[in-house]
Amino acid sequence: MAATFSRTEAPAAPLTDGHGRRISYLRLSVTDRCDLRCRYCMAEDMTFLPRSAVLSIEEMAELAERFVARGIRHIRLTGGEPLVRRGIDTLAMRLGALIGRGLDELTLTTNAMRLADHAPMLAEAGVRRVNVSLDTLDAAAFRHITRVGDLDAALHGIAAAQQAGLAVKINMVALAGLNEDQLLPMLDFCAANGCDLTLIETMPLGEVEDDRSDHYIPLHQFVAPLRAERPIWPVDKATGGPARYFAIEDSPVTLGLITPLSQNFCATCNRIRLTVEGRIYMCLGQDDHVDLRAALREGGDVDGLIDAALAGKPRAHDFHIERKSTPAVARHMSATGG
Ligand code: SAM
Ligand code: SF4
Repeated sequence: MAATFSRTEAPAAPLTDGHGRRISYLRLSVTDRCDLRCRYCMAEDMTFLPRSAVLSIEEMAELAERFVARGIRHIRLTGGEPLVRRGIDTLAMRLGALIGRGLDELTLTTNAMRLADHAPMLAEAGVRRVNVSLDTLDAAAFRHITRVGDLDAALHGIAAAQQAGLAVKINMVALAGLNEDQLLPMLDFCAANGCDLTLIETMPLGEVEDDRSDHYIPLHQFVAPLRAERPIWPVDKATGGPARYFAIEDSPVTLGLITPLSQNFCATCNRIRLTVEGRIYMCLGQDDHVDLRAALREGGDVDGLIDAALAGKPRAHDFHIERKSTPAVARHMSATGG
């Protein structure tokens, strides 16, 4: 039976890790499944978790409520693709009800394939911002990178989200030989559609068919064509997240750069990740985790386990793109929640 937590219980100690970092941001992976198969993220033929291993919507909501009681201020729903999870609307509504009662913000990261259908529900739940993964505006390249995706569906989803009042930020993974020509068109798209843009270096998470080191490109190289065209300069926008932000001359777009490989960002990390199996991963780039599922189902000491997880949060990740044969971390990004 699932343990239940009352918000009238005395608040437990706030979350601080063993390096003194205050943890206020939870990424909640609501499924490891996805309707796309992006080459850098998944193998074409993925084995997904059996249903018995997966937390129910009720269990996820209870854990999320517990985390908010412990001082989590921002929850991002992710996956896998969060919008393929049955019951996502129930979960979003339940977590949205915590906004203003401990939670400041509920956000979502999506591939936008189903965003048009869900945007009004997300807005109603209290979501105000979504991140959409869009690596290219070229329909053939989009199909190639995602293996099965349809660019028009993604663009339709973005438009529907904006119509529902959601701010959209685009996430673009920099992929040598696949989307290097797309930075300037993507910036134009973002400027025309009122979106910000964050670029991400490809990280060695999970086995995929491609050799990621073939497509790895450091962001300073990826943005070189932009720098050649106009000045960009750093702006102060401390989110506790991994991105560094830049303004671009003559552009309304704020450009974020996430450089886990070429420039480590761990010192100010304020986040933890909860997987759909109920595991807390303290770091995207490490395998250490604490399993909450059994304690949750058997009425065990969930708070004690959360404290143990925090005490063990590592100082930094352990990514090295040059490890060709084995990825730094065996699980895929879709398992932990990107
Ligand atoms: N399916 C949703 C989506 O694609 O937005 C949410 C989950 S996805 C795992 C979250 C983010 O992780 C996406 O922006 C995706 O591009 C990124 N991602 C996935 N695998 C990655 C990898 N190996 N290196 C860098 N980014 C990755
Ligand atoms: Fe699915 Fe997102 Fe991974 Fe692409 S990046 S395969 S959309 S989970």
